Amino acid sequence: MSNVLDTFLTENLQELRDQGLYNEVDPVEGPNSEKIQIRGKELINLSSNNYLGLATNDELKRVAKEAIDKYGVGAGAVRSINGTLDLHVILEEKLAEFKGTEAAISFQSGFNCNMAAISAVMDKNDAILSDQLNHASIIDGCRLSKAKIIAFKHSDMEDLRAKAKEAQESGLYNKVMVITDGVFSMDGDIAKLPEIVKIAKEFDLITYVDDAHGSGVTGKGKGTVKHFGLEKEVDFQMGTLSKAVGVVGGYVAGTQSLIDWLKVRSRPFLFSTAVPPGDVAATTAALQMIIDSTELHDKLWENGDYLKAGLKKIGFDIGASETPITPCIIGDEKLTQQFSRALFEEGVYAKSIVFPTVSKGAGRVRNMPTAAHSKETLDKAIAIYEKVGKELGIIK
Ligand code: PMP
Repeated sequence: MSNVLDTFLTENLQELRDQGLYNEVDPVEGPNSEKIQIRGKELINLSSNNYLGLATNDELKRVAKEAIDKYGVGAGAVRSINGTLDLHVILEEKLAEFKGTEAAISFQSGFNCNMAAISAVMDKNDAILSDQLNHASIIDGCRLSKAKIIAFKHSDMEDLRAKAKEAQESGLYNKVMVITDGVFSMDGDIAKLPEIVKIAKEFDLITYVDDAHGSGVTGKGKGTVKHFGLEKEVDFQMGTLSKAVGVVGGYVAGTQSLIDWLKVRSRPFLFSTAVPPGDVAATTAALQMIIDSTELHDKLWENGDYLKAGLKKIGFDIGASETPITPCIIGDEKLTQQFSRALFEEGVYAKSIVFPTVSKGAGRVRNMPTAAHSKETLDKAIAIYEKVGKELGIIK
């Protein structure tokens, strides 16, 4: 290894470890469902984004296997050459139906979808108004576009309005976009989309909503834009297929002309191999399940409310979540990690989230109940939280 790289890595890794900020990755030895196994230990799983339990659904496994038998394990090429299988077209039609738009385009992941879609439309002569707490993939997509990034205070509509006015009145930009998460995954709060759309209309902003954590969860499963009835008002309805939908991939749903443009200007569509057939077929079937029934959605919310009430009752600060995402805010990074490790020892997997994922001093253990959890499992988790919380002096 070069000396300069060696010094860089040694110094920086040590600094992260000293600050309690080095994230150890724990491989899961089996399915990522209600319970998981890590290092041979069975744990109650409160850390997955498998909100509806679909990642391990038997019918979806069957559909994926059937597609693999028919098409093979790989798509064989990028979408724009001959990696577009009829399965991708069917998925995109289903996505447009799901989101109430004219058309949709799918990508290999939510992350590369944001990188692709933002930079396909915005450039150095443009500006992007971006919520301060937007996801890393939005931030990277904005950076890649080379547009001027103007962060507004989290869900602060006065700040957004003032910055939108300033940007438009400056005359410096050809286009101005406002971009926000639909559901903010660290606190579980919902973006104020009706106000955002109103401001967007007033100042002629392009609107982009990343509903990675809303689809399957809010709007009776159809997402946050649907929750507010704004399908015709939001230009980019972006989402991921890896969380509630249970598989993998990202998408943008919008007008036919927007999707036509993304198909010729999104670099991962042009230069990265398409999602494999088994995943595509399973995704379409998962979307159909979410469209056909709210049973899993209803169970998810019931479990979320139950866990929240239980943790609040024993004295945890669960923040101001409006969705099943339930943070336990601890603050100090080292205590947060110690708490998460102690939960592990007692049989709960709830990952600590610290800087840089959240701001410094806002360390938390984040709980993601799913439709797959039973009440009995949630009761066990709450009892473990109480024991460990008292032992570490986090609750009285
Ligand atoms: N956007 C948001 C808001 C997310 O939380 C995530 C996933 N962490 C992504 C995009 C990326 O999605 P994916 O995991 O499908 O790449």
